Amino acid sequence: MGGFFKKLKKHFFSTQFLPFLFLGLLIVIQIAFNWLLLPDKLLAMILSGFLIIFWLGTAIFVINLIDTSSRLDLERNQINAMIRSIEDPAISYSNDFEIILVNPAMERFSGLSRKELIGKIIKPELSNDSRYGFFTKLIFPSLAPTVLERSADIYPQKIKVKFDEPKELTLEIVTTKVIDEKGNVFGFLKVIHDLTKEEVLQKTQKDFITVAAHQLRTPLSGLSWVFELLAKKEIGPLTLEQEQAVAQGKNAITESLKTVEDLLSAAQIEEGKFGFQFTVTDLSQIIEDVFTKFEPLAQKDNLKLIFYRPNFKLEPFVMDPMRVKLVLEILVDNAIKYNVKNGEVRVKIAPLPNKPFVSISVEDTGMGISQEDMSKLFTKFFRAKKAMEEEVSGIGLGLYLAKNIIEHHGGKIWAQSVAGRGSTFTFTLPLDPAYIPPQ
Ligand code: ADP
Repeated sequence: MGGFFKKLKKHFFSTQFLPFLFLGLLIVIQIAFNWLLLPDKLLAMILSGFLIIFWLGTAIFVINLIDTSSRLDLERNQINAMIRSIEDPAISYSNDFEIILVNPAMERFSGLSRKELIGKIIKPELSNDSRYGFFTKLIFPSLAPTVLERSADIYPQKIKVKFDEPKELTLEIVTTKVIDEKGNVFGFLKVIHDLTKEEVLQKTQKDFITVAAHQLRTPLSGLSWVFELLAKKEIGPLTLEQEQAVAQGKNAITESLKTVEDLLSAAQIEEGKFGFQFTVTDLSQIIEDVFTKFEPLAQKDNLKLIFYRPNFKLEPFVMDPMRVKLVLEILVDNAIKYNVKNGEVRVKIAPLPNKPFVSISVEDTGMGISQEDMSKLFTKFFRAKKAMEEEVSGIGLGLYLAKNIIEHHGGKIWAQSVAGRGSTFTFTLPLDPAYIPPQ
């Protein structure tokens, strides 16, 4: 009853309750007449009681109805306000594709006014209509000229499409189901992200990086050659100080050249121009070559490079030897860079049970990787904060390249780590070339 009086207080002067107040007034007048005109006061009392109970009973019912409808109105207004305030174009429509809401951004984007849209039922046939064609393709994105990406059939559903007309556009259309408390779907909400500008910007950035890297490669190679001559004392003898300076310069140039090569490889991978050359290769030999290359670097921190030779017969198998070597170089380089003094780097090869694959793991005893950073490994330009503090060289492209190379071989790559204890990077390669995906 307390709830009823609260609601009554809230809606007493509302327009919906006004007719009911009028009915109340009529009942009061009726009661007054009963008292004045009926000689039988007991009958007048019974009638008055009946009228009061009738008014109260219906009042409870009506006030609950008014309360629910005003709450729904409030919710609808809130949703309306939310959709209107979204800066991206947004629409909501019912199960039978009747447009319910559009925001101003959608009106601008589609070139159609609210009046033309609200209440209109959009059908796929309208996709050829000169006025509604573009809008229809937003509602049914699979009718767009090019579908670039499509998420699985789960909601919110994302679909990336490209239009050439009315102008070049790349859009991500996100569709969400509108459901009631019981889980019944009574419509959909679509929000459109215009990715056109972002894509142009990204392409410009990529082109700039590629051009800059290309331009840097020739002079850096020239410089590297000059430092090589100096280091070999082919130009003339060097004092001890000069020798040290030349060694430092040589290292810096080698690092820069590596960065430039990584940037060019990443650009090639993204454009699908990273040509692979597969041939039958001895994996153990590659590992030995990589160890020979990194031995001097490992010695600086008194690190032990240990190769656990396979304890099974590993015949040479098909791979791109240059690229697999690059993967091992990246992993061994990291295992040295992010290690502790007097630590170890262990490389192991093992067959995968019941599968024509081998796994190669590179284990270190270094700083490890935090749980939080684990999910970001293998993404472009990712470097952990701790790694950046302790090791300045590197731009976070190595693992990204390694992942791409291994996946082009039909293998997988992953990492396990205990922060402060060390990390193990493992990748797999197929022994049977039938498992190498078509390039
Ligand atoms: P870079 O070494 O040039 O930064 P990578 O792509 O090879 O780029 O590695 C990305 C990041 O992953 C590193 O910056 C580091 O934070 C982390 N990482 C890679 N390998 C290891 C490792 N063996 N131990 C700890 N952290 C590592």
